[in-house]
Amino acid sequence: MRVSFDLDEVIFVSPEDHKTEPPLRFPFNRIFRERVRLGAPALVKELRSQGYEVWVYTSSYRSTRYIRRLFRLYGMRLDGIVNAQRHNREVQGNRTEPMPTKMPSHYRISLHIDDESVFAAYGKEYGFDVFPLKAQDDDWAEKVIVRARQVRERQKLTLKM
Ligand SMILES: [Mg+2]
Repeated sequence: MRVSFDLDEVIFVSPEDHKTEPPLRFPFNRIFRERVRLGAPALVKELRSQGYEVWVYTSSYRSTRYIRRLFRLYGMRLDGIVNAQRHNREVQGNRTEPMPTKMPSHYRISLHIDDESVFAAYGKEYGFDVFPLKAQDDDWAEKVIVRARQVRERQKLTLKM
């Protein structure tokens, strides 16, 4: 099952109001200035060890290469990345009606973690689950794991029907 994370305000947070992983060492801290939410590397590792695919789905224009390198420096491996360029090409495409800025179900992503509450509504409409995450939350990683397990169990039941 695929789980995706938003970047801004979810994986990348401000150290002023969030607990964060230590900054990268020089010179990487000059190239990659984003600060990573505390616990993200451990969570990504845990999800992958439990058999989930971990994706990034961002409406930012950061390049795939940049995102992949930054994640790898924190020991996080990614199974897929959807940035704004890819989304615009593959989801919006030639459609004339405006699509939501993220469409996890297009990539068979079952659970998406995002700080913007609008995606919860889109999820109901387009068939993906959203875990809303915004403020500092010491238990966020466990909550995501529990939610992922719930979604996976529900999918298994649906498949059996
Ligand atoms: Mg965001």
